[in-house]
Amino acid sequence: MKLTVSQGDITKCKVDAIVNAANSSLLGGGGVDGAIHRAAGPELVTECRTLNGCQTGDAKLTGGYRLPAPYVIHTVGPVWNGGKNREPELLASCYRRVLEIASERALKSVAFPNISTGIYGFPKEKACTIALETVRNFGKQQQTSVEHVQFVCFDDENYRLYQQQLA
Ligand code: ADP
Repeated sequence: MKLTVSQGDITKCKVDAIVNAANSSLLGGGGVDGAIHRAAGPELVTECRTLNGCQTGDAKLTGGYRLPAPYVIHTVGPVWNGGKNREPELLASCYRRVLEIASERALKSVAFPNISTGIYGFPKEKACTIALETVRNFGKQQQTSVEHVQFVCFDDENYRLYQQQLA
């Protein structure tokens, strides 16, 4: 499994699935969630309404509609609340569940945003360490169809952290 980092807008990524940092309703929100729904078109929320939401740390797959990516895997990151409310293990669970679902669907390439590091307030350096460690461990321990995991950073701080920690 190859891990790469880039900076930009995840809605432009031509991969098998882009990951959405959604909220538990799955009915859209701000940040990357809003950008994905705008780019995918209204069919996305129509499909999301049939899913009955998603628990923190879990993930659910939909079509990508007008996106270049054929699938979106929606995951719900934890809201940072000091770090003693299982936030690190819930964030790790998001990355694992996405890769499990991608593997079940035989997908080869997945692009992740920096889950929970925007509105949900997870400290960026900690989140980066957890993301890289969880994805690397998954690649080592699980049989998976996923050959390429791309971390798509939006802000400069995340981009710098991912470049440093991936090196
Ligand atoms: P959360 O509620 O999980 O914190 P946010 O959408 O607020 O979700 O932020 C998650 C990350 O997504 C942040 O690092 C933010 O900078 C980034 N982000 C926002 N818009 C985009 C986009 N179009 N493409 C990729 N990443 C984005």
